[in-house]
Amino acid sequence: MRVFTLILAAVLLIVGCASQPASTPAPTSPAAAPALPTATLPVASSPEPTELSPTAAPSIAPSPTAAALPASCEPTSSMTEGPYYTPNTPERTSLLEPGITGTRIVISGYVLGTDCQPIPGALVDFWQADDNGVYDNVGYKLRGHQFADASGRYTLETVVPGLYPGRTRHIHVKVQAPNGPLLTTQLFFPGESQNNTDSIFNPALLLPVQETNDGWAATFDFVVESAR
Ligand code: FE
Repeated sequence: MRVFTLILAAVLLIVGCASQPASTPAPTSPAAAPALPTATLPVASSPEPTELSPTAAPSIAPSPTAAALPASCEPTSSMTEGPYYTPNTPERTSLLEPGITGTRIVISGYVLGTDCQPIPGALVDFWQADDNGVYDNVGYKLRGHQFADASGRYTLETVVPGLYPGRTRHIHVKVQAPNGPLLTTQLFFPGESQNNTDSIFNPALLLPVQETNDGWAATFDFVVESAR
């Protein structure tokens, strides 16, 4: 009986000791455990990257579209008519004809309103010097008007104008929406040294000229006030 009591006491002691150390580190590990997951969660959790990508994607995609629509339809700058305009020009999209020499160029684009919408039927009337920098002030060589098509587009086939004293290379043009005010302006060519000395040169009116298999080509959109 004494032996049994001793064994029982020993067992109780062992059990007591075993539970003691377990309960001592217990407060430590619960304290450390939450600290780790708490620190890990915000870093590893996907909310941040997940939130970033959807936010960034839609905000990047619509911005250019939204910005492109209303932002860029400022009216085309006007310029002096100069002394060589002749009214009542023939209606034609090509100013090429026998006797006209020089580098062929095709200029095309839209006539737009300040609301950025095309203006079908807009008048576009071009005149220019020939390859030698000379205007035909008697007839209608290198002069002609046309109307923008149903989608508001125009196309001009002509030659690159020559230089004449005091001016850089340019093509004159009048543009008018049906019942709208008349815009008179000029188009310029890149890479001309005279662009630096011509006092009325305006870089906003530069043609983005490119070489093609068949001469030069450039696009230019006119923006005018319209009556709509
Ligand atoms: Fe001129």
